[in-house]
Amino acid sequence: MSEFSENSFRIGGGYFGVIAGPCSIESEQQFLKTALSVKASGAGLLRGGIWKMRTSPDSFQGLGGQAISLVKNVLNQSKIGLVCEITDPRQIPLLDDFVAMYQVGARNMYNYSLLKELGQTRKPVLLKRSFAALLSEWLKAADYIEKGGNKNIILCERGIRTFETSSRYTFDLNSVLLAKAESRFPVIVDPSHAIGLSEHVPALARAAAAAGADGMIIEVHPDPAKALSDGRQSLNLLQFADLMKDLEKILAVVNKKIHRPMPNSVSAPLNL
Ligand code: PEP
Ligand code: MN
Repeated sequence: MSEFSENSFRIGGGYFGVIAGPCSIESEQQFLKTALSVKASGAGLLRGGIWKMRTSPDSFQGLGGQAISLVKNVLNQSKIGLVCEITDPRQIPLLDDFVAMYQVGARNMYNYSLLKELGQTRKPVLLKRSFAALLSEWLKAADYIEKGGNKNIILCERGIRTFETSSRYTFDLNSVLLAKAESRFPVIVDPSHAIGLSEHVPALARAAAAAGADGMIIEVHPDPAKALSDGRQSLNLLQFADLMKDLEKILAVVNKKIHRPMPNSVSAPLNL
């Protein structure tokens, strides 16, 4: 399995990589507060969406390009690397100088022109599985990125659509195990989008860690009830800190740990 590492984020080779932050970047204050808190709790990278892929065009679409200067301020102050979803290849020149890792969302897993463009970049790519993708289609989507020359790929299971509608999606732990067996890339989970209910997110995260997932991306918001997107599934800052403590105990059983950098270490982009 390939391993990524940099100052603050390690995944693979005995390390469980944790990416945490809000679904959407809403304001400098919201993003900075979250960044400082999740970093203090042990997250190696910060997540936050600038452009959002929402089911309804009437839902909050993200702050868009106007968020870039506030994002840079937050990264300068918090010294943590950013994972940001890219929804269009034209965003590469806007993002490439400050993101640590690109995220391809579930709705874009089949966007092969986007995947090809990301294959030409030198930044790691977190590739979410579409909620309707076979394991084989997900792995082939990763091949599109790899064929361009970019081998820094992290696969992410975020729930699939089944007949069951009582939770947002059905978390497919089978495919986490199979993707790990069949692919050379680290495989992480997104428990937040899978179950969609914050009270159950920690249990899903713990189960995935115990089963051998290489890490997780998780939604955290300082005030989930006021979040502009996905508040119902977002942990608050304290809930995330508690989960990180529980994960450490579980990870010890599977001989993994979370890398804890020095508190003031600078997080350089993952140029590997
Ligand atoms: C997200 O991470 O906020 C997101 C939209 O996820 P997904 O692409 O898995 O739906
Ligand atoms: Mn979300």
